[in-house]
Amino acid sequence: MKVSVPKETKPGERRVALVPDVAAKLADAGFEVLVQSGAGAEANLPDDLYAEKGATIAGDAGDVLRADVIAKVAAPQGAELDALREGAILFGLLNPLIDHELVKRLAERRITSFAMEAIPRTTRAQSMDALSSQAVVGGYRATLAASRHLGKFFPMLITAAGTAAPSRVLVLGAGVAGLQAIATAKRLGAIVEAYDVRPAVKEEVESLGAKFVQIEIEQESQDGGSGQYAKELTEEQQRRQQELLAQRVAAADCVITTAAVPGRPAPKLVSEEMVRSMRPGSVVVDIAAETGGNCALTEAGSVTVKHGVTIDGTLNLPSQMPFHSSLLYANNIANLLLHMSNEGRVEPDFEDEIVAGCCITHEGRIVNDRVREAVQGPVNV
Ligand code: NAD
Repeated sequence: MKVSVPKETKPGERRVALVPDVAAKLADAGFEVLVQSGAGAEANLPDDLYAEKGATIAGDAGDVLRADVIAKVAAPQGAELDALREGAILFGLLNPLIDHELVKRLAERRITSFAMEAIPRTTRAQSMDALSSQAVVGGYRATLAASRHLGKFFPMLITAAGTAAPSRVLVLGAGVAGLQAIATAKRLGAIVEAYDVRPAVKEEVESLGAKFVQIEIEQESQDGGSGQYAKELTEEQQRRQQELLAQRVAAADCVITTAAVPGRPAPKLVSEEMVRSMRPGSVVVDIAAETGGNCALTEAGSVTVKHGVTIDGTLNLPSQMPFHSSLLYANNIANLLLHMSNEGRVEPDFEDEIVAGCCITHEGRIVNDRVREAVQGPVNV
């Protein structure tokens, strides 16, 4: 079967769905790989590198979009979506719980679609988990952005010209992105504190050398007690959380916020009052800007200064580091594709929990229960 890699068209998207080494892996597995000329250019992956690894370079976007299997980063839009042929197999970050119009169009066009964000968070599927691989890049990048905005060193520096005290970084939300933000800030020498509503992450935070901010909030976890995912807090719990967090925010030079609840708007953790309490020149980097932001003053897609504090709401942080984010994402796609393939043919087993978890549309229907309910509303049985 032919697997194609179109050049991404979404403004600001610099990643590419397959990198040359991963294209070679698919070619070895019996696939024919077709790459649109310039697809890897923004990630510094020229056409020659793909050709050396056995891929065919296509000048025309139309040829690429008519392949059997299409590997994308962002969801196809408009003419791109119209150009896919009926029965094609699509992999991408399709955002199906939010982009209902896309899901309906994919079903109408009888496209078999796999959303890379919907890979189950299980040990077996870890190598395919694009949410995690891209969150690692986002967390790393957010810390670098925080240090760049801040007019201070992160580490303590003792020089002949004087001593600089270390900066204090507070990370809110210690999932995959948050843990990477903590690790990066520690490596840069900052004093790091972190808070998460799930007490289960305390050990992980401490193992990275950061202090865990303890706030007692009674909460049942969303997944029946395993403690893996957070639930939305009640108003009373939010009020209590904010009171206790206020002191930690006021003491921080940089606050990096990563808190999220799957399928819901980001919880508001940093109020305007808290921003006002920060020292002039302090920084908030809000990774959750994608889903509404953890800080009340975040403007999605912009860096602003409010009450003397720089608030960075840059979207799509992984795209700012396209070489490595593309490498990790390409491995996620190839591992999923190979998981459901046999001798260069995609033959998904819809009973398989990984396939069933991330397949969104197939043969004209929305096959993922959670997405179907989000798109069509609850169905009474
Ligand atoms: P996420 O992006 O959904 O959320 C980020 C963090 O925000 C989470 O740790 C969450 O607890 C926290 N949060 C939510 N509401 C909050 C609030 N009001 N205040 C403070 N913090 C709040 O999470 P994620 O990074 O995608 O990962 C979620 C969990 O899944 C983690 O435990 C992670 O280790 C686990 N995970 C498991 C696997 C696997 O087993 N294969 C893969 C990836 C992630």
